[in-house]
Amino acid sequence: MAKGIQAIRGMRDLLPADMAAWQFVDKVVSETLGAYGYEEIRLPILEKTELFKRSIGEVTDIVEKEMYTFDDRNGDSLSLRPEGTACCVRAGIEHGLLHNQQRRLWYQGPMFRHERPQKGRYRQFYQYGVETFGIASADIDIELIVMVRRMLHKLGLLPFVRLEINSLGDLASREKHKADLLAYFHQHKEQLDEDSQRRLQSNPLRILDSKNPAMQGLNNNAPQLVDYLDEASAEHFAQVKSGLEQLGVEYQLNPRLVRGLDYYSRTVFEWITEDLGAQGTVTAGGRFDSLVEYLGGRATPAMGFAMGVDRLVALLQEKNLHIPSNSPDFFACALGDAAQTKMTDIVEQIRDRLPRAKLLMNAGGGNFKAQMKRADKSGARWAILMGDDELSQEKIIVKPLREQQEQQIVALADVFNVCDQLLQTN
Ligand code: ATP
Ligand code: MG
Repeated sequence: MAKGIQAIRGMRDLLPADMAAWQFVDKVVSETLGAYGYEEIRLPILEKTELFKRSIGEVTDIVEKEMYTFDDRNGDSLSLRPEGTACCVRAGIEHGLLHNQQRRLWYQGPMFRHERPQKGRYRQFYQYGVETFGIASADIDIELIVMVRRMLHKLGLLPFVRLEINSLGDLASREKHKADLLAYFHQHKEQLDEDSQRRLQSNPLRILDSKNPAMQGLNNNAPQLVDYLDEASAEHFAQVKSGLEQLGVEYQLNPRLVRGLDYYSRTVFEWITEDLGAQGTVTAGGRFDSLVEYLGGRATPAMGFAMGVDRLVALLQEKNLHIPSNSPDFFACALGDAAQTKMTDIVEQIRDRLPRAKLLMNAGGGNFKAQMKRADKSGARWAILMGDDELSQEKIIVKPLREQQEQQIVALADVFNVCDQLLQTN
């Protein structure tokens, strides 16, 4: 027999057993976005390679070595999106969503990066991306950070994460900082690793973003961007900080937080956990006031963040947090053809009257024992059963599967009420 074909390395199948956690994150995040008035946008997974090269920056980990790039049949270079901001800006410009207006947008879905697969790092991973446009003031920076905090709180994750913030200033302040940074790294050239040597020529700020522990000491003593902030950026950052303080949001200043992409300016932030090893950033974002213009639109201030769903799910599981069940409420069993016919009818009526009930109907026959086994395996809280006796007496048996409770025998006419009441119990 031919050897089975397996999934591509770093691209996971997400199996039913994990879905309750994924659905919990989906529900909390999308409900919170809705509650804050953010609008969904759906974007293609493939874009022209040029879009990412231009926006993310040629000399970044993502563009240098992580993109899935190929020529399509016309010879155009396309890439699977490694992140969504560039795509969202591209779409916003293309459809005139950004100019002279405010927008609060979100999208979600898979992103693709050819990284070394490990816990919390996959080649296909999932993000919620949130981007705001047309709002230059610090209130939107605060709103975004506070909204993430609310999501993390609802997920039960707040005790396990911390917020780090920094400001990258404007282009001029980054240029001044860059000159001093270059001088500093040249002085200590022998301590630079291979990647950093290369970046010294092309993009020294990226050296600060290095994940190499051997580079930490050198990076810690490097000139810090916060000391170079232009007046307007410093004022903006002060407003962000005092806004967070007024709302009781705890944060840590991290002067080395530079983010791995070229398009950021002013506020950047990350929510980080210590409980997932090196892959600790669960949400990351910042301002990108120059990106819209850079990609061909009119100058539009913008700020956003991306949430890594894989890591949020991993943290929920790691911490054994409460995850709402997605198991069925009821599993319906019937013994004998006549009871089966009747039960099918009742089950459909329950679905009419109690649309929120999750109800699985036994299929494929089987004796009592086999059906109860299926009911149990389904994770349902109650079995509802009918055999010939119940059919002739117009009754149904409601049997708890998870709790130590007596089974009830219910008149057919009362089934809907009884099921409704059971659904209200926790
Ligand atoms: P890291 O520092 O972990 O490499 P990053 O700076 O490359 O992250 P961003 O581009 O800011 O990450 O993406 C935002 C979020 O998406 C990250 O904080 C993380 O939660 C998630 N993420 C990024 N890359 C991966 C990946 N390969 N697998 C799983 N999640 C990822
Ligand atoms: Mg990365």
